[in-house]
Amino acid sequence: MHELSLSSAIVDTVERHADGRRVTTVTMTIGSLRQVVAESLSFYFEIVSRGRVCEGATLEQNYVEARVRCVPCDRGWTLDQPIFRCPDCGGSEIEVLSGEEFEVDSIDVTEEEAACIAPR
Ligand SMILES: [Zn+2]
Repeated sequence: MHELSLSSAIVDTVERHADGRRVTTVTMTIGSLRQVVAESLSFYFEIVSRGRVCEGATLEQNYVEARVRCVPCDRGWTLDQPIFRCPDCGGSEIEVLSGEEFEVDSIDVTEEEAACIAPR
């Protein structure tokens, strides 16, 4: 259900920017800490999009790896598991540098479709 609410948020954002034009591609940046299941997000996106400007649009998902930094010793590393402890000093004062993104980067729209739905 996590992906369902995320999909609704994406479609709402896209609709605000599409300005009534038909959307063909939506490009997203998603941090791996968001624990989004890509197939699931695509699946719900398709359902939520029905009857709206992004119906049938391709959802491009670019995943960003999680980068964190140990505050006391300044060591940085990539998180492949959610273990928030520094491998060097064992400290748990960890700053997240990336991995929490969930953004619509860009949308592609078709101009021809825009002409079709314009008032005559
Ligand atoms: Zn450390």
